[in-house]
Amino acid sequence: MAFIPSVQYFDSNSDWLISIKDLEINGRNKKNPLKLNLDINSNQCKYLGCPNIFLRTRTSGLCNDHHNHQHDIFLDVYNFNAHISSPTHAQIINNLIDWSKSRNFDLINFFKDCSFTILGNVPDISTISKEINHTGFVSKNLSAYLDICIECVNRHFPSDNNSSYQKIKIKNIEYPARVLAIIFVGLLLCEESNRGDRWFWREIIKDESRTTLLGGAMPIAYFASMNFPWGMEIGKAAPKFIPSGI
Ligand SMILES: [Zn+2]
Repeated sequence: MAFIPSVQYFDSNSDWLISIKDLEINGRNKKNPLKLNLDINSNQCKYLGCPNIFLRTRTSGLCNDHHNHQHDIFLDVYNFNAHISSPTHAQIINNLIDWSKSRNFDLINFFKDCSFTILGNVPDISTISKEINHTGFVSKNLSAYLDICIECVNRHFPSDNNSSYQKIKIKNIEYPARVLAIIFVGLLLCEESNRGDRWFWREIIKDESRTTLLGGAMPIAYFASMNFPWGMEIGKAAPKFIPSGI
């Protein structure tokens, strides 16, 4: 198994660093949801170098040893080198919404961009590690996928605009708005690669409608539900739109 080198983004204006590291098999490793033997023509595990065989009817194409991803990527946040426990998706979204209202900032465009740019464009972590290979596709390194996420933030919270650095307080920690956006897209990247299958159905099978997992769409759905003019108070029930722990 190949260790995926850590990737980082450092915001030099504010001294915030986000780092994504590979916990390998010591994380909360998820099942690999891909269907690598859809046409039921093979009985050998598709994991790089694995000789295990199984019944042809196993559509995952993965043996019992490789049923789960062998990687789990995890996001860490640091400010002036001090480790800060990352706010959750819901905390980031709620606070960005409150902040944007008072400033007339168009948050919908940012979340739309996240949806178009990130969802379905980030492969699962076994593909990124190059231990699962697909005919006609070569995965980029994790750093290139993080770059796509940062570019999305740059379009809405540019580093040369002072308002990107307005402070938003969550649990006594003041985050620049841009940093919260960076943490958010970093979490989306982890979510999509640790437990998504949208990229596979879109890129490899060319039928995105067969996607089975929401992955990074979940927090975006939470944002949409928080922003929808319900005509009633969702109140404390709102967090139930997303499962706890993401
Ligand atoms: Zn195997």
